[in-house]
Amino acid sequence: MEKQIFRNFTKKLAAKLLPARDPDGHKGDFGRVSITGGSVGFTGAPVLAAYGAARSGSGLVFLGVPEPIYPIVAGHCLEVMPSPLPAARGKISKDAFFPILERLNGCDAGLLGPGLGRSQDLSKLMSKILEETETPLVIDADGLYAIKDRRELLQKRAERGLLTILTPHEGEFRYLSGDLAPGREAAALDFAKEYGCILVLKGPETVTALPDGSCYVNTTGNNGMAKGGSGDVLGGMILGLLGQLVASKRSAEADTDKAQFSKAGISEAGGITALAVYLHGLAGDIACKELGEYGMLPSDLAARIPAAILEVQ
Ligand code: AMP
Ligand code: MG
Repeated sequence: MEKQIFRNFTKKLAAKLLPARDPDGHKGDFGRVSITGGSVGFTGAPVLAAYGAARSGSGLVFLGVPEPIYPIVAGHCLEVMPSPLPAARGKISKDAFFPILERLNGCDAGLLGPGLGRSQDLSKLMSKILEETETPLVIDADGLYAIKDRRELLQKRAERGLLTILTPHEGEFRYLSGDLAPGREAAALDFAKEYGCILVLKGPETVTALPDGSCYVNTTGNNGMAKGGSGDVLGGMILGLLGQLVASKRSAEADTDKAQFSKAGISEAGGITALAVYLHGLAGDIACKELGEYGMLPSDLAARIPAAILEVQ
């Protein structure tokens, strides 16, 4: 594919990228997605991510959290299906490997990281998951921290044709050893190329970079989004839209396996990721108009995803 930089992401382009919805579709056709995260003290992040996915059109959203916070998380879930995972010291423990893997393997896409917390065991656990699952993955927040010293796993996934999308803000990008010196666009593109992944470098003008040298620069959003939780909603939106894209391939070609989809579909996946970034900012702009940049919250943004989608549809 020709290298392209899309700086003027329009509503028209958003409408074109929005996954079509079959009028006769059932929930399985619109993607099964799985989120793994949460820890004691970080109960909101996985819920915000889950609603980011559900509000973006996902058919089924599963949410795995460590057992001690399960009752709190479950109390905030109506349309999302939470489940308790084995825990140690308030975080997901290594004994959660098989339940996480089994869930991911039954899903069209997975998100690892919101509110996960940090520990050596979690770094090992996340690395094993990246090695074992063929399911397309979005990695955010502490999920990025977990793999920061194991970045070769990203290259190995790319060699196998597996799709990985990373969503760091600048601080997270730095500890992934990304070099911001060449400028945000060039830095994101260099990283995406070196590791064979889609790299979403978040900020006021979020850059979505693809390994083939294409990139999207976002035009929506405002400083009312600079609050803890906004990024979690975005991770969920990317997951939800990606799940719909993968599910549409699955139903169109019954024997298309996930690995082959990833290889063939990285530019489509890049488009859907940039669409999620655009809609996230647009939902933020709608929330800002109603509530102002001081008082709007990430949960207000999540509640306005439907209005953002209606604006571009
Ligand atoms: P995180 O830091 O992970 O919570 O992510 C913050 C989210 O809010 C990202 O999607 C950013 O692009 C967005 N965001 C933060 N500050 C701004 C800003 N000043 N203008 C536009 N978007 C922003
Ligand atoms: Mg974040």
